[in-house]
Amino acid sequence: MLRLRRYALKLEFKPGKYLIGTDTLSRAFDRSVKKSNTEEEIKAHVDMIKQNAQVSDPMWEKIATHTKDDEELKDVLNAVHFGWESDHAQSLKPYYHFRGDITEIDGVLVKGPKVIIPKALHGDMLKKIHEGHLGIEKCQARARQVMYWPNSNNDIENHIGRCGTCQKHRYKQAKEPMEQHEVPEKP
Ligand SMILES: [Zn+2]
Repeated sequence: MLRLRRYALKLEFKPGKYLIGTDTLSRAFDRSVKKSNTEEEIKAHVDMIKQNAQVSDPMWEKIATHTKDDEELKDVLNAVHFGWESDHAQSLKPYYHFRGDITEIDGVLVKGPKVIIPKALHGDMLKKIHEGHLGIEKCQARARQVMYWPNSNNDIENHIGRCGTCQKHRYKQAKEPMEQHEVPEKP
């Protein structure tokens, strides 16, 4: 959407009989309109991710600091910059299958629009997710939109499973009591 915004599109209907087979040149757009500005696009992308994650600048820096000290993430950071080797290290395993989605923004690793949280900050994030005591499912859904770490769903479940308030107000599926009929005395 951001890429297309600079163009004023004009749609025109062409009957099928006037359509010729598409070839490379038919897709060559007019380059005189405006040169593609990769830097501008990257900045828009970065802003979009930062906005989605709702992470303040000091927090972003904190995540970056812990990322480069993190046992796993420092290897991921290295792989993002210098390539994912096929005989990848154990630390890269949880990230390898979606390696194409991982990029680095100002020292922080992101997976698509989500911020990858280093281990040292999992506790802080769990506390943040748990604010408001929304219960396990809602907390997981909330976290899934903005952050990522391997097995985060389990961690959220364990963390919130220990919370009395969440347990007390958990939605319970009403159980139908078993109704037994009287056992006849004769066949
Ligand atoms: Zn709770």
